[in-house]
Amino acid sequence: PNGASVPVLVIGTGYGGAVTALRLAQAGIDVQLVEMGMAWDTPGSDGKIFPTSSAPDQRSYWLRTRTKQPVSNFFGFPIDKDIPRYTGVLDAEEFAGITVYQGRGVGGGSLVNGGMAVTPRRDLFNQVLPTVDANEMYDVYYPRANAALGAKLVDPAWWGSTPAYQYSRVGKKHAERSGFPWRFVPTVYDWDYMKAEAAGTATKSALAGEVLYGNNHGKLSLQKTYLAQAAATGRVNISTLHRVTSVRPVSGGRYAVVLEVLNTSGTVTATKEVTADKVFFAGGSVGTSKLLTKLKATGVLPALNGEIGKGWGDNGNVMCGRANHMWDPTGSLQSTIPTIGIDNWDAGGAFAEVAPLPVGIETYASMYLSITRTNQRASFSWNPSTGKVDLSWQTSWKQTSITAAKSIFDKINSKEGTIYRTDLFGGYKIWNDTLTYHPLGGAVLGKATDNYGRLHGYPGLYVVDGALIPGAATVNPFVTITALAERNIEKIRATDF
Ligand code: FAD
Repeated sequence: PNGASVPVLVIGTGYGGAVTALRLAQAGIDVQLVEMGMAWDTPGSDGKIFPTSSAPDQRSYWLRTRTKQPVSNFFGFPIDKDIPRYTGVLDAEEFAGITVYQGRGVGGGSLVNGGMAVTPRRDLFNQVLPTVDANEMYDVYYPRANAALGAKLVDPAWWGSTPAYQYSRVGKKHAERSGFPWRFVPTVYDWDYMKAEAAGTATKSALAGEVLYGNNHGKLSLQKTYLAQAAATGRVNISTLHRVTSVRPVSGGRYAVVLEVLNTSGTVTATKEVTADKVFFAGGSVGTSKLLTKLKATGVLPALNGEIGKGWGDNGNVMCGRANHMWDPTGSLQSTIPTIGIDNWDAGGAFAEVAPLPVGIETYASMYLSITRTNQRASFSWNPSTGKVDLSWQTSWKQTSITAAKSIFDKINSKEGTIYRTDLFGGYKIWNDTLTYHPLGGAVLGKATDNYGRLHGYPGLYVVDGALIPGAATVNPFVTITALAERNIEKIRATDF
């Protein structure tokens, strides 16, 4: 309530926020979580919490009046449509040079993501986080994170025979025939449940195209893992449709946090102020960076250092599709949860996930989301004339990523005698080079913060999310975000409480 005083306030309920809440609560500390999105625990009039993926409705998007589908065209035809403005689950946040997709609601990105739980290669770790002890991460914190997230490998025998992974088998075959190493990646989907979906004994979710706008079943989102454990301690409270707009120091070394209460149309219906001993920023790379950039520039937190808003990257994301021959169908049934990655990091700077195109009919398309090596980094800055935070990313910077991804797919196309699809992203584009699913950085570990996420200039303020990671993770990022949060909160709990 307005005027309340709490020991710990956590802004955001994604990976960083969920880890922080659980570990502090387990240590006997009361935690107040604040989430600008909805709870996603109540079915709509159709009896489902999340909408059908083929029929996006207002639940699909965060405060948009038109969908913005990552694969925007179907056989060349645009498929976006008007929807009512609502506090939906997927935010397609548009900056000048890039659209950044993010989850909104209790569970953050875990509500909308593909569930690929990938630990970076050990030999690449210090390129990702140069100031962190890799031995500690691989011995303690990655295993701890993967266990708590419920990351598991698909049963290879089932994978090898189910129609739902025909597209993955085609992707693997083509990688192998061009000499690229590939590997199974763990995921956070309940594999027994997916087998039951395939057998027709459970309500379909991954096998019904659900993922981008939420999975009604099967997915081990944070609501089912970290946040469920946190709730079980009885020490964690979550306020939804509450957006933090300001954090300022007050007497006694405490902080006043200003919150806007939203209705489901996104209108602010009330403003509250609470005080906290400690505030953890867990709004995700973009959410945390925007807030800190604004608070520094407007003189609310002037002692934050010059690294705030810097070192932001897109994890080198670029998307493409290949057109297969008639003898290589990818299947009309495609599980939305990817299972394999093609590793050409050393030779070409690309790790490509074999992605689904779950449209319910045979498309002969092989889809890929590539994660690539790129040194392009952008900065957030406060724009006083619009009262918003801008991002300096330029679309042309994706050329490095396209070149890296081509190191895989040009070779496969030449080996298979195939071509790129030009009917998926509009304007005959081969590459979707205007988005990222993996925003990282903006309050980088060891720069804007100390080596454990303590913000310079303000004791009691911490960054615990993807903003800490300097722009790239070499693979899909949530396991690294989770493991880093585990490492940092262990130290902070032991020394700052
Ligand atoms: P988030 O999970 O983004 O959580 C931040 C939360 O804070 C959000 O719920 C947000 O609403 C809330 N918030 C922000 N600002 C405020 C504020 N001011 N006040 C109150 N609340 C606020 N990663 C993988 O590793 N594997 C995958 O397969 C994968 N697939 C993806 C697919 C899609 C479509 C997308 C969008 C992402 C995918 N990702 C994947 C990325 C992954 O989901 C993110 O890296 C991860 O969620 C980031 O975690 P986080 O803790 O930094 O922040």
